[in-house]
Amino acid sequence: MVRRGECMPALGALKRLFVDIRDGGDPAMLAPCLGELAWCCMRLGLAAEGLDCALAGQKLYSRAPDPAGEARCLSITAFLLLDLGLSDEAFETAEAAVELAESSTDSALQAFALNANACALAICRHPDLAQPLLERAIDLARAAGDEVEEAFCLVSKGFCQAKMADFHESLGEAGLAAQWNDLAAETTVSALEKAEACGDLWCQRAALANGAEFALRLGDAELASACLARHADLPGDPGVSLTIHYLYTLAAAHRAAGRLAEARRACHKALAMAEQNKLIDHQLNVLFQLCAVEEAAGNHREALALHRRFHDCYVAQSGEVAQRRAKLAAIRWEADQWRARASELADQALLDPLTGIANRRAFDSAFRDLDGQDFTLAILDLDHFKAVNDWNSHAVGDAVLKRVAAILGRGLPPGALLARLGGEEFALLFPATELDHAVRHCADLLHRLRDEDWSLIAPRIEITASIGLAHSEGTELSAEVMALADERLYAAKAAGRNRLVAADHAIGAENALG
Ligand code: GH3
Ligand code: MG
Ligand code: MG
Repeated sequence: MVRRGECMPALGALKRLFVDIRDGGDPAMLAPCLGELAWCCMRLGLAAEGLDCALAGQKLYSRAPDPAGEARCLSITAFLLLDLGLSDEAFETAEAAVELAESSTDSALQAFALNANACALAICRHPDLAQPLLERAIDLARAAGDEVEEAFCLVSKGFCQAKMADFHESLGEAGLAAQWNDLAAETTVSALEKAEACGDLWCQRAALANGAEFALRLGDAELASACLARHADLPGDPGVSLTIHYLYTLAAAHRAAGRLAEARRACHKALAMAEQNKLIDHQLNVLFQLCAVEEAAGNHREALALHRRFHDCYVAQSGEVAQRRAKLAAIRWEADQWRARASELADQALLDPLTGIANRRAFDSAFRDLDGQDFTLAILDLDHFKAVNDWNSHAVGDAVLKRVAAILGRGLPPGALLARLGGEEFALLFPATELDHAVRHCADLLHRLRDEDWSLIAPRIEITASIGLAHSEGTELSAEVMALADERLYAAKAAGRNRLVAADHAIGAENALG
């Protein structure tokens, strides 16, 4: 429903769902529900309410952690902050969203985050930097086959082109300003077509309202009125905020066409709605429009009184913006705490986050449990791994480490444990296993590592490893066994690498299997 722009009924359904989940549903559904609520509020122009939901969702996702979910909530937060007049904060939030989204493989999510980033840039007076981001966002949305996202990106592109026009206007470059206004109008027509094709009513409304505004800039009051008439004919309830926006754009169109009585009527209706719903940002916009109407009508006394009201309202709004800013800072601080706590918990957990195999902590605990028992320990260290990073990249190094872990994990004897001790060092624990048996297994691993097709990760990579093994009859201290395996690992390195050492002499990978 939200995707189709039927946001009023969607909001009701989402609120009921939220209560159900909170009162005993699956707690994992809470963050997605909050995210959808925030998105719905964003489309309804309920920025303050939406912000609460987006921040709460963001907090849960950062605790999970779920970077994709967090990126989505951050993008929504950025749009809501723009609505609330906190453009610097919106920009920072959107940048964080893009960074998180880029680590995912979800192109539509990346498009959404880039869209937020571009809008924030345009509002922070950098519409020139916003253009290329939107081009990329449109390509990504198209690649993902997400027409709703693509339509939204096109709406934003038109908006940013209008901001380019404002920029040139402010430099007195009327010709360039007109060109950008033309482009903005053109893009907005494509946005409208795309929104109609996928049935997204919200995007259709946004495109028609923007289209009306751009037509007014180009001096075409009739085109503006036509856009607004189509806007009024769309089915469903757009919600209070979009209705107010529609009304003061309508007032501007009437004013431009000299229909001052109609313009005044639309403004008064919008002002009453804004006051009743305590939407202070909208009150400002409407008062601004109403001043212009009264001035055009020559009612200077009335216009002066409205200017005073505008000023009072502006002061009140600044106070609200400061409060929102303070609240946001508090919530961000809390989210940072959660992120720090989450990474602490991950450290304490038993899996290595990169490779997904057991980590040092898990190994230590298993190793302790073997105290007094018969086992064989192998420590494996990749050869010249630093060079893999240096000649390629850290990301390639990481990919190699993941593949190495997968190779080492294949065909592990029952009961054996594979762990990443740290960096490019791995351990294999073989409980109740004779040294010879473990040696045969490890020699096979050396072959498999060397023979793997590493060019799938990056060209000209060769990976070999050195291994030190030690056996315990259950009488040695585990630290002694560890030290012996380590010593033999270094003996294997010293003897030329790509081999294992299990006693006093090294066995090369080539002839270990005889
Ligand atoms: P040797 O054959 O003597 O072991 O040489 P080496 O280069 O393999 O050993 P060294 O200890 O000098 O370097 C290990 C390198 O491993 C250093 C670091 O760049 C890299 N490394 C450690 N942990 C990671 C990781 O998580 N990801 C990546 N990409 N590289 C890592
Ligand atoms: Mg190494
Ligand atoms: Mg090492």
